[in-house]
Amino acid sequence: MSTVDAAILKEIVGENNVRDNEADLYVYGSDSSVHEAMPWIIVRPENTEQVQAILRYANTDKIPVIPRGSGSGMCGQVVPIRGGIVLDMKGMNRILDINLKDAYCLVEPGVIDDDLNRALKPHGFFYPPTPASSRIATIGGEIANNASGTRSVKYGAVRDSLLGLKAVLGNAELVSLGTTTRVSASGYPLERLLVGSEGTLAIIVEAAMRFVPIPEFRCLGIAKFDKLADAGDAISEIISSGCQPSMLELVDKVAITAVNKSMGLDLPDVEAILIFEADGMVKQAVDYEIDKVKAVCEKNHGFGIEVSYEEKERTKIFAGRKKLFPALSKYDEFLSSTALADDMAVPFSKMAETANKIHEVADKYGIVMTAYGHCGSGCMHTKILMDTTKGEQWEAAQKAVIEIYEYVRSIGGTTSAEHGIGLSKAPAFKKEKESTLELMRSIKRVFDPNDILNPGKLMDAPDDWLTATHLRYKVGE
Ligand SMILES: Cc1cc2nc3c(=O)[nH]c(=O)nc-3n(C[C@H](O)[C@H](O)[C@H](O)COP(=O)(O)OP(=O)(O)OC[C@H]3O[C@@H](n4cnc5c(N)ncnc54)[C@H](O)[C@@H]3O)c2cc1C
Repeated sequence: MSTVDAAILKEIVGENNVRDNEADLYVYGSDSSVHEAMPWIIVRPENTEQVQAILRYANTDKIPVIPRGSGSGMCGQVVPIRGGIVLDMKGMNRILDINLKDAYCLVEPGVIDDDLNRALKPHGFFYPPTPASSRIATIGGEIANNASGTRSVKYGAVRDSLLGLKAVLGNAELVSLGTTTRVSASGYPLERLLVGSEGTLAIIVEAAMRFVPIPEFRCLGIAKFDKLADAGDAISEIISSGCQPSMLELVDKVAITAVNKSMGLDLPDVEAILIFEADGMVKQAVDYEIDKVKAVCEKNHGFGIEVSYEEKERTKIFAGRKKLFPALSKYDEFLSSTALADDMAVPFSKMAETANKIHEVADKYGIVMTAYGHCGSGCMHTKILMDTTKGEQWEAAQKAVIEIYEYVRSIGGTTSAEHGIGLSKAPAFKKEKESTLELMRSIKRVFDPNDILNPGKLMDAPDDWLTATHLRYKVGE
């Protein structure tokens, strides 16, 4: 039962920044995952002092506090399974500085990725991690999830762009971690601990991020494959032959069907498509990369290869991939797309084998699964398409997820590439990280002695998400 004093919180952030009506609580009780749980109250701080004051109160009364960006996470990271305060960080959304001389920017955690890139563009720079959700994803959420995106194959994940940050610990202490310099060998890189921490260690209130020059030339291409295995071999060979694409995306047949149905794109009826991009300041250098990628695709039976430097054409080629996630809901009118086993990272050489395994497991359990993703950085996404009104479909999905993650571990892959762990992936994560779970708990105790920050997640999440969490779907008897 809720034991939070709204008056105290209103005193800290003002009347308008506290909400506890049922409709708002309902909205803030879920994210882009399958889970839901109601918070007790929603509080939107506007500055660091307010965050500290909220945590001082919450820490004294041992009230759970769940930092939230836009709630676009796919695994239940912001679902308040133990109730408490949802801290809506979108009230702290100022770009504090774009420091061109020292090549970094200083942002509050609620800044939206696309807004940061719009601000950097006139200066000729961009912030590269950019997930497909960049229209809504906040920088705080990206850091806490270690998000990455289509261009991470060349520019890295969020961890590669983060220089330093300020954060409020569970006991309300403000700490400054990392630096704003490009390199640092000054002891433990503690800012890195917050990367992928999913709100369990501290509240990020400011971040220093690096940015890079916008390339003069971008060339995007597409190659079609009749066999998924050939596309997989091409991915591995592109990476191992020293090509440096700025994008390398895999789209499988299920995803192609969904995109064609929902967007009328008329993509070819093949088993797999690779979308690739090269970028640079010199056109010949981009041509060189593109020619190398094309040659590898052709060698691996890729066909129908088209490339273009034209922005309009590039947008057209990429349209299907960009809208893939919403398109999956249109694959079949009776099936909903659920984010389960939704992303993993696997060795490049195992990309096709993994995609085939996903389809094999889906067939075994009578569900539909797709395989796609930023394969150039080893990332493989799946979605489970199923009739969410049927309990037996959920049980089948859970079995499929377990089997897929067992396979992923057996080939040296990891539970999450970029979407994080939250609740849905916690059972697999706990198996993968079995030997270091206690170490993680010890670290959490140092940052958050009373276990108030996003409790019950990551290493402390339930072992069985299907029975131990509430699903945000109406499941029939
Ligand atoms: C259509 C779609 C496409 C997507 N594509 C991608 C993709 O390509 N790549 C990718 O990586 N992800 C992707 N995602 C997942 C998600 O959008 C990203 O991980 C994103 O970074 C989450 O940002 P958010 O602001 O929504 O964070 P939220 O979902 O609100 O929060 C994510 C985590 O960050 C924590 N957090 C938020 N703010 C703070 C803070 N200030 N301090 C401490 N912790 C905090 C939360 O507690 C939570 O654990 C996609 C999601 C959708 C819906």
